[in-house]
Amino acid sequence: MNHEPYDTLAATYAVGALDGQDRVEFERHLAGGCDICEATLRESAETLAALARARPPMIPPPAVREELLRRIGTAPARRGALRPRPLVWAVGTIVATLAVAAFTGAYVAARYEARLGQMARETAALHARVQREEAALREQLAVYRSAADLLRDPQAQVVTLRGLGPSPEATGRVIWHPANGGYVFVANLPSAPPGKAYELWTIGDAAPQPAGLFQVDASGRGAHRIAPVAGGQQVKIFAVTLEVEAGVQKPEGPMVLASAK
Ligand SMILES: [Zn+2]
Repeated sequence: MNHEPYDTLAATYAVGALDGQDRVEFERHLAGGCDICEATLRESAETLAALARARPPMIPPPAVREELLRRIGTAPARRGALRPRPLVWAVGTIVATLAVAAFTGAYVAARYEARLGQMARETAALHARVQREEAALREQLAVYRSAADLLRDPQAQVVTLRGLGPSPEATGRVIWHPANGGYVFVANLPSAPPGKAYELWTIGDAAPQPAGLFQVDASGRGAHRIAPVAGGQQVKIFAVTLEVEAGVQKPEGPMVLASAK
């Protein structure tokens, strides 16, 4: 048979508010042995005990209490009496307490969810930034490792670059291997203006050859890999000019660094 009516009776019985024929019927049902109702009664007892232990005591705001009592008071009375019975008052108070507890829980959860959402977004942004910085550091480390490897070769040479014209305080070094190419490291070079980049040149007996574009970081430092010169021609001078971002085939902008002749 459908157990649903007994669920309601069990909840009412648990708070001591069941009387009359309903109570007789329910107690008969319970005496027959019902695991569901026994569980309901046990759970209700535990909930009520927890509510009684709760500190500070959960007292419904007067408005909630009044509203609940008003509803109970105007509900059709089964036995003619409109006067609320003490047990009904007790049920009303418990219902109100549970409603307030549920409302408070939802309110706190909503507030913390907003906070947690914001924290999650901040954490994701931080994670992305750390990943970018880590990638940049790995790249830099790889450049330094390769440069150190290159320096072990007796054929490698270190060429000093000096600041010129607009940036006299700039310094630079090229680690160069005739067959393998090399690296240029610069310092104290101002950041290139928007739309501009630094371009490296290798100069031998022929016209200057473009050897790549690079930027410097906020501290004025930069590192750039230099490919070997086609045909293995000897490089006599390394120079850096400020050019348009896309680069040029012949130096056009001001020369900011150059090796001694
Ligand atoms: Zn039952």
